Amino acid sequence: MKNSHLHFNTAIGVKKPENIRNKQQACPFCAREQLTDLIEVDGSIILLKNKYPVLENAYQTVLIETDDCQAEISTYEHPHLHKLLQFALKHWRKMEESGEYESVIFFKNHGPLSGGTIAHPHMQIIGLHDINYKENIVEDVFGGILIDEKDGIRFTLSTKPKVGFYEFNLEMDDCVYIEAFGEFLQIAVHYILYNFPFKANSYNLFFHHFDRKIYAKVVPRFVTTPLFIGYGIPQVPNNLDWMVDNIRELYF
Ligand SMILES: [Zn+2]
Repeated sequence: MKNSHLHFNTAIGVKKPENIRNKQQACPFCAREQLTDLIEVDGSIILLKNKYPVLENAYQTVLIETDDCQAEISTYEHPHLHKLLQFALKHWRKMEESGEYESVIFFKNHGPLSGGTIAHPHMQIIGLHDINYKENIVEDVFGGILIDEKDGIRFTLSTKPKVGFYEFNLEMDDCVYIEAFGEFLQIAVHYILYNFPFKANSYNLFFHHFDRKIYAKVVPRFVTTPLFIGYGIPQVPNNLDWMVDNIRELYF
């Protein structure tokens, strides 16, 4: 049976460690020897079962990106970046192909406004037993002004953002990983954290797989606009062309 809402288990939720704001809380992902339920380890990259599975009717995994607690996608050397994304995409696809889930979501939170709880760089791959995220995808949400295109990878700035304001999109055919995908992703994240005109310290990555394509949405996070919370109306800023030119000048 399908469901419209994901159920959150509050009893597990209260036990979850939080160290994005509470710096006193030791990092659970740095204590590598204490990690349990490992699924695959490749050097400093680890995929494991989430110790605090707060979502019901779901299989939650955590992908620890590196053993460096202070690192972040924009600081990775290219070989590590590509290895990480290939590792993540492989496991995401494997869960999709297992046929056990209605759909599998793959995303990342970074920073205090991202909704994340642990600062150590990590991503999440979650199999949903009764929700298909693809049903919520509105056409055009991945379209936008082309910033750059390389080896078949398109890097755009949304003209019809899902929530509003600035959303970056990456588009790749689903068969083979192309390095330009990772490089554009890193540029989007770097721009948000270091060159964004509105000072952002948080972002999310949301990966989508449909129509034989992989789409990644890179979203800087601020306090969400009340017009979206109250009425579901996304707003589009009128300086998108300026921002595209700004990114081109800085990175290309
Ligand atoms: Zn750590």
